Order: sequence, then structure tokens, then C-alpha cells
Amino acid sequence: MAVDISIEESPFAASPVVPEQFGEDHVIKFRCYKGIECFNACCRNIDITLTPYDILRLKKRLGISSTEFLAKYTFPFEFAKNSIAGVKMLPVEGGTECQFMTEEGCSVYEDRPTSCRYYPVGLLSTRRADENFDRTSYALVQEDHCKGHLEEREITIRDYRKEQGLEEYDEEGRGWRQLILKMKSAGPAIGTLSKKSLRLFFMACYDLDRFREFVKSEGFNATFDIDDATRESLLQDDLALLKFGDRLIRQVMFGEESIARKADAYERLVERRKEVAKLREELEDGDSDV
Ligand code: SF4
Ligand code: SF4
Repeated sequence: MAVDISIEESPFAASPVVPEQFGEDHVIKFRCYKGIECFNACCRNIDITLTPYDILRLKKRLGISSTEFLAKYTFPFEFAKNSIAGVKMLPVEGGTECQFMTEEGCSVYEDRPTSCRYYPVGLLSTRRADENFDRTSYALVQEDHCKGHLEEREITIRDYRKEQGLEEYDEEGRGWRQLILKMKSAGPAIGTLSKKSLRLFFMACYDLDRFREFVKSEGFNATFDIDDATRESLLQDDLALLKFGDRLIRQVMFGEESIARKADAYERLVERRKEVAKLREELEDGDSDV
């Protein structure tokens, strides 16, 4: 399985994908089921980019934190040199198979990632440099090992997306996809992103539990003006936190202000730093007195 879900320009160079783009009404001939001769073949050699929503679903399913999930099941990559990072599924140790593959099929089927749901369809999200909206089209991946294409069932891409539960996954993944396209289409105009911005992007997109700790932190609350109801939902609700992270990234990286800052945030920060410096001095003096 090798379908990226956020592909730009020439996605199919050196790949087995038929380079023709379709709309949702396009009819494909495909069926996949347990018992088909190639069962599991697509999960034996994985190259799966995860969306933030994929991670949210999987970590919840496994009952672990995002930090644990990232460490055990993923590895990071850069979309471009010194640019924002993505994460891919880490195959089994010493092999290429998905860690969730079993003889019975996918062990996380109800929460499988977007790419797995789409296969053998590829989602193409593109944005032209002179436009501020995204275009969506689809393509068909035809790999020799996949015998589902030989089945007689015909289905439109629209119905296939519904069948695979992709409306929800695409809806929740849209903000992240747009961010990546925005970053790519901005190119050098966006300048060099600071390490802090890159870390924020990674944490708010992929490591939600760590991002939640950040949202709870004194520094964050001294800077941003969050009302109690919003703060409560960010502490309890992963999806609300994910959406908030998207807004914070846009504010920090693109200057799209949507989160109110405390009027005296800067002054308070300077004051706080002075207090900490003074405290350190006092402690050091205390040490030398002993
Ligand atoms: S998550 Fe499931 S469907 Fe996706 S590659 Fe792994 S085993 Fe296959
Ligand atoms: S038909 Fe294709 S998608 Fe289904 S199990 Fe076989 S290789 Fe995988």
C-alpha cells in the first residue's frame, strides 16, 4: 500500500499509480474482502502517512498517549528540507509489514488510517501558487498484487468514500491538509521557519497529549486569553484540541489571528522573567552565605 493522501503536482513519478485524475462520479471496478487471494498483500509493504486525526483515532483505540503511540508506531519525515514534519507508520521490526496486520486482517480496522481506507483510490489535494483554495481529485492505484481490480463490482468514488467512512476522516483531516498545501504553495515566501514553530506544528498536529500539557502551562495561559468553557473542552476533548491546534499554528506561522492574546501578556512575561532572575540571585546569595 503506497498512497499518499496529500500529494501535490506530480504525485505519480516512479509509482504504480495510473496518472489520470477523476472526479467523485467516476466509476471504479473494485472489491476487497476477506478470502480474496491477495488478502493482506497491501499491508505487507507499507508507506502510510498519518493525518493528525488518524493518530487521534489510533491512540484512543489502543488506550495509549499520543507520545507513546508516536514512539512505538511511527517515524517522522520532512515534507521538504528544514520544513514541517509528517509522520509515517513504522513497520514491524526488520520488515515492511504493518504492525497492525494479523492473519485475520487489520487489527484496528474500525480505526484504520485514511490511506488504508482510500486504497486503491488516491486523494489528490493540490493548490496553485496563485490561488487560495484547494482542488481535490482522485486517481486509481493499480498494483499487480491487488486482485480487487479483477472483481466485477462497480462503484463510484463518491460511494466508495462513503463505504470506507472517509467523509468523516477527510473532514477532520482537512485543516492539516490545507496547512501543508499552504506551506508548500507559500514556498520561500514564508521564510525560514523557526525551530519553535516547527516544534509547535509537530506537537499540535501529532502529539496531542503533550500539546494539552502545553495548553495547561503557565506560559501559555499568561499569553492567551481563553475562557473557562473553551479551556475545559480543550482539556477533555481531543477533537476540540486538534482544531484549536490548527488555529494556533495558523496564528503563529501565518499571522491569522483568531485566538485572543492577553493585553498585558508581554509586560507580564518580562515581569515574570525578572522575578525568576531575582529569585535565582537570592538563592545563589543564600548558597554563598552558608
Ligand atoms: S492499519 Fe490495517 S489496513 Fe492499514 S496497513 Fe495496517 S493492517 Fe493494513
Ligand atoms: S484486494 Fe487489494 S486492497 Fe484488498 S486485500 Fe487484496 S491487495 Fe489488499
